[in-house]
Amino acid sequence: GVNGDLKAGDVDKIVEQYGPLCMRTLNDALRREKHLKHGGRVQYGLFLKAIGLSVEEALLFWRTAFANKTDEQFQKQYAYNIRHNYGLEGKRVSYSSFSCGKIIKGSLPSAGDHHGCPFRHFSSGNLEATLYKDKLTGNQVRGLLDLVRDSHYQVACTKYFEFTHPQHEKIDIIEHPNAYYELSLESEN
Ligand code: SF4
Repeated sequence: GVNGDLKAGDVDKIVEQYGPLCMRTLNDALRREKHLKHGGRVQYGLFLKAIGLSVEEALLFWRTAFANKTDEQFQKQYAYNIRHNYGLEGKRVSYSSFSCGKIIKGSLPSAGDHHGCPFRHFSSGNLEATLYKDKLTGNQVRGLLDLVRDSHYQVACTKYFEFTHPQHEKIDIIEHPNAYYELSLESEN
């Protein structure tokens, strides 16, 4: 994989192409709203770190994305937490990205939040619309909604991977957004 060599300007393309639905949701929300609340910044920021975004590129990425903030607001409210994720502030622990289990069992997103797992946290109407937008067939969408109804969120995500990467060999159940990303990347290269 890529380590420490992902550029801020390539994040959109890379996440859109290889990211799991949870991270694509966060990236889309960030582009649309030019902001993410704390839960989303942590979940997405640690994912990006794990796919090779250095702290310098992360500061550039978030600064550019938060287009409506002044430099002063950005420095005061956000830069510390970004450096913190990379272990450069506070306890100096370099934090790892969240597993699916942690995201699925984690804090429930409230209005305006975009963190979480779409299979767990989207309303079924929103999930259905999202899956159709991703060009899944009616049968595929119904199959995924059935799994979600039975609380098999990671199985649904694994099936979603299989539907959207039909040429890929059979995979084990998705346990981590970064594992999804690695599998998706490897299926194209
Ligand atoms: Fe993301 Fe995991 Fe949910 Fe898939 S199952 S959307 S990788 S949190």
